Amino acid sequence: MPGRNFLFVPGPTNVPERILRAMDRAMEDHRSSAFPELASGLFHDLRKVFATTTGQAFIFPATGTGGWEAALVNTLSPGDRVLAPRYGQFSHLWIDLAQRHGLRVDIIDVEWGEGAPADRIGEILSQDKQHEIKGLLVVHNETATGVTSDVGAVRRAMDAAQHPALLYVDGVSSIGSIEFRMDEWKVDLAITGSQKGLMLPAGLGIVCASPKALAAREHAKCPRVFFDFGDMIRANAMGYFPYTPSIPMLYGLRESLAMIAEQGLDTIYARHRRLAEGVRAAVRAWGLKLCAKAPKWYSDTVSAILVPEGVNAADVIDVAFRRYNLALGAGLARMSGKLFRIGHLGDLNELMLLGAIAGAEMALRDVGVQVTPGVGVAAAEEHYRSTAAPLPARPAASSSPDTQLPPGGKPAARATVRA
Ligand code: PLP
Repeated sequence: MPGRNFLFVPGPTNVPERILRAMDRAMEDHRSSAFPELASGLFHDLRKVFATTTGQAFIFPATGTGGWEAALVNTLSPGDRVLAPRYGQFSHLWIDLAQRHGLRVDIIDVEWGEGAPADRIGEILSQDKQHEIKGLLVVHNETATGVTSDVGAVRRAMDAAQHPALLYVDGVSSIGSIEFRMDEWKVDLAITGSQKGLMLPAGLGIVCASPKALAAREHAKCPRVFFDFGDMIRANAMGYFPYTPSIPMLYGLRESLAMIAEQGLDTIYARHRRLAEGVRAAVRAWGLKLCAKAPKWYSDTVSAILVPEGVNAADVIDVAFRRYNLALGAGLARMSGKLFRIGHLGDLNELMLLGAIAGAEMALRDVGVQVTPGVGVAAAEEHYRSTAAPLPARPAASSSPDTQLPPGGKPAARATVRA
């Protein structure tokens, strides 16, 4: 199909040209004396994205799922009890992974469309006088339903219950896009993957561990080899990895972290909020509802949009892809057919998102959803125009040939248009 593909699944996200170019390089010796400069810089800079000064970042050649596993097996023993609210496919899968490692998971089932219930968590923890619960697993941004939970509130509930459980937070679709404060929220294990806010291909599972989490390793008996923090700590201390790292991914990560530093995390969070609000305005204008049940749960990285009864959301996604070259996210598990998702995270701007909204709007109409042409685009456009930042100043030395044309005339002389 001519033209470019519009990739609007909530990960993998668009990889900026700059990162693609940084990754396009010859392989090199990962045991050379030059290598530690690359690796050590990454460990240092990653901490800023997690907002931690005391946490230690681990980079595994894996994905978010590997990050989940690494966090659990390094800090827990088979038979340990953990508490986990479940409110979407990713919280479900993490629980499944924990159970397969022999952990006993006390599940708090929450309606899909809501997030972590801080009050309920607090009550359960206060009743656990013997401190049998060793960990609490929270998915910060449930990508399946477009719900963001308040991790700060969860931490306050844990503190109020004076419970020492480790706090594990899946930040796979939030870290680098939605405010994440590892130290402030006293997160013990924060997990992310490379293919979302970090704007890279999938291929890295990144875990940041607090000093308390690192201390828990001493007693943790879950078997671990590939994901062993101990092997990583020994090799990373010298700027190396215990096995062959993916060199292009590491160079890509370096570029990604440089871009994030240049833009500034607060600016990035504000951009995600503003872009998301435009999508939410479009959804309202279409007369549709989000899966997220209340504004406090709205996610700034993904909107899960319910289609009307009688419409199969899979058809919307299929038409969008085959007719308009637009990739939308599917409804997962019990949401299959009921919703489609627009991912709005990573390297994105208003016009890119307006393209996705236009494509979704056309696909909705193609499958028979009654939508007035253009209403979604108009609503988002209005939001973006009314909240636009002041026009950036023109560069001082603006000297393109056109600006040197005399009013209404030809260039006076070729010599005057030297660039
Ligand atoms: N957690 C969340 C919130 C996710 O969105 C995903 C994937 O989309 C995962 C975990 C699993 O990550 P991966 O597919 O990189 O293994």
